[in-house]
Amino acid sequence: MSRRAELFPKATDAEWRDWRWQLRNSVRSAADLARFIPLTEDERRGCEETAAVFRLGISPYYLSLIDPDHPFCPIRMQSIPVRAEASVQIGELRDPLGEDRHRPVRALVHKYPDRVLLLAVDHCSVYCRHCTRRRITSGDEGGISREELSEAIAYLREHTEVRDVVVSGGDPLLLSTARLVELLQEIRSLPHVEIIRIGTRIPVCLPMRVDGELANALRKFAPLFVVTHFNHAKEITPEAREACERLVDAGVPVENQAVLMRRLNSSARTIKELMQKCLTMRVRPYYLHQMDVAEGLEHLRTPLAKGVEILQQLRGWTSGLAVPHLAVDLPGGGGKVTLQPDYVVERRPQETVFRNYRGERYTYPEPRESDCSVPYDEICRDR
Ligand SMILES: *Cc1c(COP(=O)(O)O)cnc(C)c1O
Repeated sequence: MSRRAELFPKATDAEWRDWRWQLRNSVRSAADLARFIPLTEDERRGCEETAAVFRLGISPYYLSLIDPDHPFCPIRMQSIPVRAEASVQIGELRDPLGEDRHRPVRALVHKYPDRVLLLAVDHCSVYCRHCTRRRITSGDEGGISREELSEAIAYLREHTEVRDVVVSGGDPLLLSTARLVELLQEIRSLPHVEIIRIGTRIPVCLPMRVDGELANALRKFAPLFVVTHFNHAKEITPEAREACERLVDAGVPVENQAVLMRRLNSSARTIKELMQKCLTMRVRPYYLHQMDVAEGLEHLRTPLAKGVEILQQLRGWTSGLAVPHLAVDLPGGGGKVTLQPDYVVERRPQETVFRNYRGERYTYPEPRESDCSVPYDEICRDR
C-alpha cells in the first residue's frame, strides 16, 4: 500500500490532486504530526520548543514522502523540527542577509543595482525547517497587504534601473491564479522591467498546484523564469516531475536553487544525483547555497570547504549543465559571492599552469596582444 493510502485512506484522487484540499489538510501541530509519523524524542521536543519560534506546516503530499522509519530522511529533516532549531548560537542573526536595511518599502528588498526581491506573501505550503526568512514567514510581521504591494509597484515605477524582479515571499504560487496574474500584470506594465522570476517551492511541496491554467497564465508574462528549490533527489517524484515539465512545456524555464545542509544532502554523491535528476526534468541547476548564519540553523551548516569539495567532484566529472554556482550570501547584507575550486597551480607572466579535474597539469599561454576593447560596440554605441 502506498504511503498516501496509509496516511490519508479517505482522500479521493480528486481531493488529493486538489491543491486547496492539500492546504486544508496540512499538518499544523505536533499532536497532528504524531498521529501520522512516529516522532523521535528529539523531534517531539523540537516541535514543542519551536512552537513559539516558527510555524509548523506540512502538506499531505510532502508528508507522504517522509520515511517513517528513518530520522535522517531528507524530507523529514526539512519539515519536522528538532531541538537544535530552538537554540540560537552566538553570531546567528534574525535577519541574516541584512535585508531589513535594504527595504525601501515593506514588500521590497532592493540590495543590488538592477534587481529587487518582492515579498508577495508571508505563507508557504510547507514551512522549511531551514527557512532563513522566517522573520517574515513566521507571521510575526503580519501578512503583506494589497496596499503594501501597491506601494512596492509605486517604488518600482520610480526606479527605472530595476530590470529584474524576483517575486518571492513566502510562496507566491499560493496566491490564486487570478490574484497572481493581477500582480504580474502590474509588474509587466513597468517598461523597464525586462525579466520576472518567481521563487517558489510549489513544484517540490505542492506540485498539484501547477495545473495547465497556471502554466499558461505564467507563459503570458515571458520572459518569466520559475526558480524552485529541490534539495534532494527523493523530492523528484512523478508528481514533481509533472509540475516542472508542465511549466517547461508551456514555455516557462525552470531553475533550481538548492541549499547545502549538513547530513541532509552534504555529499558529492547526493548533490550530483540531485543535479543530474533535475536536468532530466529540464530543470537547470542555478545556485547551490551555503546555509545562511540564521537563528537556530547551526546544526544544518556545513564547513565552507565542503561545498567547494563537492563542486570539485562535479566539475569535469558530470555535465557542466549539472554544476551549480556555489553561493555564499554574506551575513550582514553584503550580497552573494561565489566560491569555486582553484584550478590554478602557478601564474607566470606569459603562461598559467592549471591542474585539470583529474589533477593533471596543463599550461595555458597568454596571447601577445591585450587590448580587449570592442570596436564595433564602441563605435555603434549611439545608434
Ligand atoms: C539572491 C538575491 C537576488 C537575485 O540575485 P541573483 O544573483 O541575480 O540571482 C536579488 N535580490 C536579493 C535581495 C537576493 O538575495
